[in-house]
Amino acid sequence: MKLFENHNLKTYNTFGMEVFARKFVEIETAEETPAAVAEYLQQWPYYILGGGSNTLFTKDFDGTIVHPVFRGIERMEENGDNVLLRVAAGEPWDNLIQYCIRHEYYGIENLTAIPGLVGSAPVQNIGAYGVEVKDTVYKVQGYILSTRNPFGLSNADCRFGYRNSIFKQTLKNDCIITYVWFQLSKRKHFTLSYQGLAKALEERELPLTLHSVSECVRKIRDTKLPDPKIVGNGGSFFKNPVVPVEQYQDLLTQYPDLVAYDAPKGLKKLSAGQLIEKAGWKGKRVGNAGTWKNQALVLVNHGGATPNDVLNIADSIINDVNKLFNITLEMEINRI
Ligand SMILES: Cc1cc2nc3c(=O)[nH]c(=O)nc-3n(C[C@H](O)[C@H](O)[C@H](O)COP(=O)(O)OP(=O)(O)OC[C@H]3O[C@@H](n4cnc5c(N)ncnc54)[C@H](O)[C@@H]3O)c2cc1C
Repeated sequence: MKLFENHNLKTYNTFGMEVFARKFVEIETAEETPAAVAEYLQQWPYYILGGGSNTLFTKDFDGTIVHPVFRGIERMEENGDNVLLRVAAGEPWDNLIQYCIRHEYYGIENLTAIPGLVGSAPVQNIGAYGVEVKDTVYKVQGYILSTRNPFGLSNADCRFGYRNSIFKQTLKNDCIITYVWFQLSKRKHFTLSYQGLAKALEERELPLTLHSVSECVRKIRDTKLPDPKIVGNGGSFFKNPVVPVEQYQDLLTQYPDLVAYDAPKGLKKLSAGQLIEKAGWKGKRVGNAGTWKNQALVLVNHGGATPNDVLNIADSIINDVNKLFNITLEMEINRI
């Protein structure tokens, strides 16, 4: 493991916030996790950091950041139908996508180009284009900080929900995920329930392959989302609100074009981006921060924005959306 003191986090968060961590520990192998915990995580505060693409640092971090960097994708079991992969926490998520395309493993191609590392994927149950990672996670392995014990949680134990899991609830800040196991299909099948994806594939007249679906997703994302290497951002800043069907129907009388998707328990999931856009925030800039011109749900750092610049905009959006729709937007991003 490596220890850095007073470490600049600017290149460790996709918002590009220039903040400093008092201590920064890179864990280089899964096996050294218990030793790293014993040596550096005796004292709160600490934070487990992956690729920093779902993290907004709001100030200097007066504690220890733990950053697992170990990589690796291993085939653990295989039969005619499925394959079981064990993937190390520090593996970049998109590397896993490329690996699956090369080996023709089906199930996560719609999650192409989501930034970040594999260890973070189950934390908020990443999702895009009709697929959530929970559909392929077989188990999650790691180390509990409070009890100093290793753990292995089955898919059911992870209590996955919409952008939610046990790692955002009872195990929040209390575990280091070392490996995620995925069960992927070797039989050709695709999830094309998201209209935009099916349409884009049709328009491009592409044959239906893992490669074409993945590339199509990448292209759609490129048109909508800013590349964090160019414009700092953390992806969707807010969760899509889930409301009772009656509330949605009421809103429809005033806003007939309001988009909604079916959610579990007969609820309706609205598009936070559309609500923000209707509240007049799409592409708006206040100082060095703002919302993205093609997707109002993405808050951006145009260069030199401070955490407060971003948080002030977020607060104004929450207020304005609340006034208009009587809905309180909840932040998806982790504020540290
Ligand atoms: C341009 C852009 C587009 C995006 N698009 C999507 C999208 O389509 N769908 C989607 O779901 N998300 C999306 N995101 C959000 C983000 O990419 C995902 O949430 C991703 O999984 C975060 O990974 P990370 O490694 O960067 O996480 P980080 O920001 O480093 O961490 C996120 C959380 O995971 C915890 N964590 C990280 N590593 C570990 C570990 N090893 N053990 C325990 N806890 C850990 C952290 O403590 C934190 O709570 C997008 C972000 C950006 C910038």
